[in-house]
Amino acid sequence: MLGKLKLFIEFVSFSSSIIKKLEKLQLNPEITEDIKEYKSTVINMQTIVIDIQQFVANLQLENSQVKEKLKSAKIECSELKKHSLEENDYEIISLEPQINVTIKKGQISSAQNSVWYCPHCFNKKKKSIINKIKENSHEKHYKCNECNFNFAIKKPQKKIEQGMFTR
Ligand SMILES: [Zn+2]
Repeated sequence: MLGKLKLFIEFVSFSSSIIKKLEKLQLNPEITEDIKEYKSTVINMQTIVIDIQQFVANLQLENSQVKEKLKSAKIECSELKKHSLEENDYEIISLEPQINVTIKKGQISSAQNSVWYCPHCFNKKKKSIINKIKENSHEKHYKCNECNFNFAIKKPQKKIEQGMFTR
């Protein structure tokens, strides 16, 4: 198809160069009239060529967009597959009442030190790590950057401080 199209484009540009040469010749009026008609046909064909070239360019753009979408769909599909395979290796634990995070199984004894994943994102087949965003003397603030799930955990207060207040 592209080969035929190339031939057609070559034919149109060749016809246009022939017309230019014929127009320079001193010919009888009847032939000159024919050349005029021939010229208008070639001009119409040149318009068609421009339309076709635009159409082909659009198709090529569309084709590359479809390829790009397919590529990201494939990546998403393999991530979902991986997630469903791993799902059984994770569990939800409560850090405090009402505060749940997802961690890798078998790390419950060291829950404070293990990587925390957002349980809401995990349900949506996405592994998003919960990060500490700020900390003051009383509590630590954590947040999931994907869904903005956030919470604060109170720091254990030192006995010496309590002693200072009761004094
Ligand atoms: Zn989240």
